Amino acid sequence: MEITDIPVEGYERVARCIDQESGLHALIAVHDTTLGPALGGLRFLQYESEEDALFDVVRLARGMTRKSAVADTGLGGGKSVIIGNPETQKSPELFRAMGRFVDNFGGSYITAEDMNISIADLRHVREGTPHVTGLSREEGGSGNPSPYTAYGCVVGIEAAAKHRYGSTDLSGKRILIQGVGAVGGEMARLLKERGADVIICDIKEDRVADLCEEFGYRSVSEENHLDEECDIYAPCARGAGINDETIPRLTCDIVAGCANNMLLEPRHGDELGQRGILYAPDYVVNAAGIINVSVERHEGGYVEEVAMEKIHRIAENLEEVFQLAEERGIGTHTAAQLLAELRIERAKAQRTS
Ligand code: NAD
Repeated sequence: MEITDIPVEGYERVARCIDQESGLHALIAVHDTTLGPALGGLRFLQYESEEDALFDVVRLARGMTRKSAVADTGLGGGKSVIIGNPETQKSPELFRAMGRFVDNFGGSYITAEDMNISIADLRHVREGTPHVTGLSREEGGSGNPSPYTAYGCVVGIEAAAKHRYGSTDLSGKRILIQGVGAVGGEMARLLKERGADVIICDIKEDRVADLCEEFGYRSVSEENHLDEECDIYAPCARGAGINDETIPRLTCDIVAGCANNMLLEPRHGDELGQRGILYAPDYVVNAAGIINVSVERHEGGYVEEVAMEKIHRIAENLEEVFQLAEERGIGTHTAAQLLAELRIERAKAQRTS
C-alpha cells in the first residue's frame, strides 16, 4: 500500500492511497479539525480522472467543516472517495485496505456512509480501522440517518416559517416536496401530521401514487411542479435545482429542503433573496444526519435523546443565520458560511488565549 500526501492550500491533509493487491485507488481530504476530528462520508464513484475526484473530495470536505461548525457537532470537516466502478470493483479486501488508509490518519479523519457505500461495506472498512461511524444500532452505531434528517428538516421548515410568518404553525401551509425518497418521504408524513397541505412530486410515479393513496397528499408531475402555487418549496431530490431556469418560476415564500448543494451557484442564493424568497441554507437544515452520528462519539456512546435534543437546535442555528444575514445585508447562504467561520475563529482564539 502506497500512501502519498498531496499538498492542497487551506487543507490540513489530503492524501492518495494506491493498493495494488486490492485495487484500491482512494483519496482522503481533511479540511479543518479546529472543532474536532474531521467526519465525513466515503463515496465510491467512477470519476473521469483523479483530478476530478480530488476536486470533489476537497469541495465536499470543506462543506462538511461548515455543516458541522454551524450544527455545533464538535467535529471538523473531511471526506473520502474511492475512484472506481462500485458495480464491479467492490470487495472485502478493497474496503479493508480503505480502512487501513483511514487508520493512517490516526483518528483525525472519521469515515461514514455516502454515495454507493452500504453498511455492509463499512463493516469491512471497520476491520481496518476503529474510525468508522454510522453502523447499525446493534453494532453500537447510530443507524440509518434518514429519519433524523427528515425530522431535522421539519424543525428547519418550522423555524423558517416562524421567521417569515411569525409562527411555526404549518397548518394549511402549501408545502411542495420535490423527491419523496428516504428523507422527502418521511418529511411529507411529518408535515401532514402538522396539518400542512402537502404536495409531492417524484420521477418515480408509482411511489407518488402509493404515497398519495396512503396519506392523502396532492401530487404534481415533475415537469410541471414549479408552476404549482405553494408557500414553501422543499427540494429533496438532487443538487443544483435552484438555478437561472427555476428561480423565475418559483411562487413560494420559503425554500427549505434536504437536498445537498441545492444552489447551482452561490449567486442563486442572492437571487432568491432579491425575489423576496427566504432561503434556509441546505446544510443548516439537513444537518440532523451528521448531528445524529456525532452523538456516537459521546462518552457512553449513542443515546437517541441526546441526538434529538441537538437536532432541535437546528431552529436556533437557522434563526442565527437569518439574523446575521439581516444585520450584515448579505444572503442567508453567505451568512451560514460566515457563521461557520466565526465559530471556527472563536475556537482558535480560545485555544491560543
Ligand atoms: P433518495 O435517493 O432516497 O431519494 C431521492 C428521491 O428523489 C428519489 O425518490 C428519486 O426518485 C427522486 N428524484 C430524483 N430526481 C428527481 C427529480 N428530478 N424530480 C423529482 N424527484 C426526483 O435520497 P435521500 O436519502 O432521500 O436524499 C435526498 C437528498 O437529501 C440528497 O440530495 C441527499 O444528498 C440529501 N441528504 C440526505 C441525507 C440523509 O440522511 N439521507 C442527509 C443530508 C442530505
